[in-house]
Amino acid sequence: MGVVIDGKTLSANIKADLAERVRSLRGEYGRVPVLTVILVGDDPASHSYVRGKIKAAAEVGIESRLVELDASVGEQELLDRVHALNEDDGVDGILVQLPLPKHIDSERVVSAISLEKDVDGFHPLNVARLWLGEPCTLPCTPKGVMRMLDSVGIGLSGCNAVVVGRSNIVGKPMAKLLLDANATVTVAHSRTRDLAEVTRRADVLIAAVGRARFIGADMIKEGAVVIDVGVNRDETTGKLCGDVDFDACAGKASYITKTPGGVGPMTICMLMENTIECFVKRKSR
Ligand code: NDP
Repeated sequence: MGVVIDGKTLSANIKADLAERVRSLRGEYGRVPVLTVILVGDDPASHSYVRGKIKAAAEVGIESRLVELDASVGEQELLDRVHALNEDDGVDGILVQLPLPKHIDSERVVSAISLEKDVDGFHPLNVARLWLGEPCTLPCTPKGVMRMLDSVGIGLSGCNAVVVGRSNIVGKPMAKLLLDANATVTVAHSRTRDLAEVTRRADVLIAAVGRARFIGADMIKEGAVVIDVGVNRDETTGKLCGDVDFDACAGKASYITKTPGGVGPMTICMLMENTIECFVKRKSR
């Protein structure tokens, strides 16, 4: 059985360190970082994610503010809200929970967030800076995955890393961070031919597909490091499960993560870290 990289414990330890940092920032600057979350509509998954973020902020000592808007809100009204928060010197981080209702252009809204308050790292300029290798706010999920790999001392230099999934928020930035760590990176997607042959070459396999237990034991090589980003609902049991068939793969992997309790808590934890970093950058300008 491979070693389980426990995202819950790791994120709890990081949050304890962040709480310490927030205490000292309060002493230095007279206030704590403030994160504002905008939540549009009543999608249960989005509400659950936002609850998790607000809970984590409280644990770390970050002040969170929630702006809840009806699903029928107009794009301009939402943009006006974002602009007002950009102007508010007492707000350090702005997060618009995605997905937004279909009548709203998400890219326009994300681009409207001030670069210095973009705690998700989704602003086009942050994305550009990431790909140019310039200092930027890293997107939380890939950042959290890198922290998990680092926590168990996985040497990435020269290894074959395969990322399954090429979304803007997970797959693509994940590939860039692995590339920066000198891995040889392959990005697979729905058009990849003979996916199992590709994934079996991976020393480090990152699954970000969005399909329950999609990665089976026949798709990984003996001793691979397997990181499961996926969060899916098992249609039979209704329970959360990952993209990786954990029970089948755990015996073959050297290190593996679980869903829930893996990448999810790390993502939220990195959001807290990003909020603190945005606060410090603004304060030390
Ligand atoms: P997207 O739906 O945006 O992207 C999914 C990717 O998987 C696409 O690139 C798609 O390929 C690829 N894909 C789909 N089917 C196949 C297939 N049969 N074979 C190979 N590749 C395939 O999802 P996200 O990146 O946003 O999220 C991925 C998963 O991670 C989801 O389960 C999501 O809930 C979870 N997630 C978890 C987070 C966490 O904190 N733990 C944070 C964010 C997401 P193509 O581009 O060709 O369509």
